[in-house]
Amino acid sequence: MDLLYRSTRDETKESFRASKAILQGLAEDGGLFVPEQIPRLATDFKDLAGRSYQEVAYEVMRLFLTDFSEEELKVCIGKAYDEKFDTAEIAPIRKTGGGYYLELFHGATIAFKDMALSILPHFMLTAAGKVQEQKDIVILTATSGDTGKAALAGFANVPGTKIIVFYPKDGVSPIQKRQMVTQKGNNTLVVGIDGNFDEAQTGVKEIFSDEKLKQWLTEREYQFSSANSINIGRLIPQVVYYVYAYGKLCADGELKQGEPLNVVVPTGNFGNILAAFYAKQMGVPLGKLICASNENKVLYDFFATGNYDKNRDFVLTSSPSMDILISSNLERLLFLLTGENPKQTAQLMQDLKTKGRYELTPEMKAGLADFYGNYATEEETAETILRIYKEEGYVLDPHTAVAACVYEKYKAETGDKTKALIVSTASPYKFTNSVIAAIAPEKIKDKDDFVLAKDLEKLSGVNVPEAVLSIKSAALVHTKVCGVKDMKDAVKNWLLKK
Ligand SMILES: *Cc1c(COP(=O)(O)O)cnc(C)c1O
Repeated sequence: MDLLYRSTRDETKESFRASKAILQGLAEDGGLFVPEQIPRLATDFKDLAGRSYQEVAYEVMRLFLTDFSEEELKVCIGKAYDEKFDTAEIAPIRKTGGGYYLELFHGATIAFKDMALSILPHFMLTAAGKVQEQKDIVILTATSGDTGKAALAGFANVPGTKIIVFYPKDGVSPIQKRQMVTQKGNNTLVVGIDGNFDEAQTGVKEIFSDEKLKQWLTEREYQFSSANSINIGRLIPQVVYYVYAYGKLCADGELKQGEPLNVVVPTGNFGNILAAFYAKQMGVPLGKLICASNENKVLYDFFATGNYDKNRDFVLTSSPSMDILISSNLERLLFLLTGENPKQTAQLMQDLKTKGRYELTPEMKAGLADFYGNYATEEETAETILRIYKEEGYVLDPHTAVAACVYEKYKAETGDKTKALIVSTASPYKFTNSVIAAIAPEKIKDKDDFVLAKDLEKLSGVNVPEAVLSIKSAALVHTKVCGVKDMKDAVKNWLLKK
């Protein structure tokens, strides 16, 4: 039986196969695609313990992508999780005194977005073949720093696709920016915007739902899709590593089969932690899902009060990929909390759009029991990087440090001794300046990130990754900057030239 997908806002309950949902990205009504039910892991969990990343990926993905054949899926998996990763384990686990760090930054762009964006282009091309789509797919993406590069790396020079990335011009780290503006490939466009990530994301969503523009595209044989985590094809690959990590910890004798495992996730758009929630629904014995925020702590307030309120100052922090006030994937959780009520979900999203806030009913709030939220200030984040470095000789990037700090707060507050998986979302080399500022500030002295990377190599004993070395002297390719209002024109003008 096919698993079908429907929009979180659609009352007609029209449903689509996975390939259609992935190709389209966002539903026509602006809602997000969700599976009609979250599948249970068919394989007895014991069978998955100790299997390779690729094998676990197949077992998980086949349950969600039921219209992909075994061969198609295995080809996608084989092409995605290969030597682009600098370790055959793909997602190694580092054991420390404080918990298990699941390192998701061993892919081409050294952040966890590679876990899903290495495979999304293969999903899309396979899906396009299935629905006999002749139009070119135009991937439109807003990035807080990491999605952009990972998507560019995945889609550059892929026939039948074009990719456009908008990033906040002053809101990403120097390495993140350099990674994007040096991107090669004649099907790529990277544009800095005068605005923050939320404005970029809202701009992209508006382009998606612009009927006139859709018409314009259709006439030119183009079709939009998304590489943001609003695309269900991003979310499904993220479920895999929670299943894999649990199995690996069992195989290594760290966990007993069935023993609960808390997970701590540094959170922005709520995609990564939602994938953990899906894994739990599938039957993985996960305990608390600990949502860690930086000073943009809209989610902490949400879990504490049941009120979501984005009316506040946007803070630029040392963990820019979490500088987000509109966590798009929360819509998928809300849909479940409303008892899968599209009308109520659409109303909440309407409130968010018009008032910048919405409120849960007491029944919905009760449904949040799986989650715990807290946040780390900039100072606490830097202290955590220094503390773990001193205690373990292990260097965390600022996003992961936010998670490590929140985990300490959680333990202090609850006394919960359940083992925990801390999701490590980026290499410290992506945020060299902030990391050195935390552990050896005397070395900073106006040095650029590439010089500092050498210092970090000495301090951490971990080699500078190829992803950083390769962009050091790469030519600048993308210099375009525009206002938020001009995003639509930037898209049209570039496509006209193509
Ligand atoms: C994107 C990102 C996050 C936030 O993940 P979400 O799925 O958006 O919650 C955290 N850390 C890093 C390094 C990221 O790139």
